[in-house]
Amino acid sequence: MSQFTLEIVTPDRKFFEDEVEMVIVRGVEGDIGILKNHTPLVTPLSIGRIRIKKNGEFKEAAIAGGYIEVSKNKTTVITDAAEWPEEIDVKRAEEAKKRAEQRLKSSKSEVDIVRAHIALRKALNRLEVAKKK
Ligand code: ATP
Repeated sequence: MSQFTLEIVTPDRKFFEDEVEMVIVRGVEGDIGILKNHTPLVTPLSIGRIRIKKNGEFKEAAIAGGYIEVSKNKTTVITDAAEWPEEIDVKRAEEAKKRAEQRLKSSKSEVDIVRAHIALRKALNRLEVAKKK
């Protein structure tokens, strides 16, 4: 299967750069699968999994939203945070989940509620991806 370059960058590090066969991301309107020669595109991503296919096998990571930019031979994902399953600290994600749930119960302001929802979604996503270890 033909390959293209996938790069995933976060503020801390270049999380991934390699030739891949396919990448599947969670867009704001549903999953998007990218193969070589996909139509150029820039679109926002949801908090979710990214699935990367290379040599016929999929690898998964958690990403905290961001953007994907697809051009002819290269796809770039820019995200606030990315982790492989084995990098995820499950205890930390469980604590983040508990904090977010508490904030959802006690917050009065809309901004605080939106923030707590985002924190909860990030924690749940990490817990889900960590199961793939
Ligand atoms: P917390 O409330 O636990 O700090 P957070 O959702 O606020 O979590 P982020 O701002 O998304 O954290 O990420 C900050 C940095 O910490 C990133 O580098 C991210 O990869 C890392 N990170 C966050 N949570 C975890 C986790 N449970 N396991 C491993 N790395 C994590």
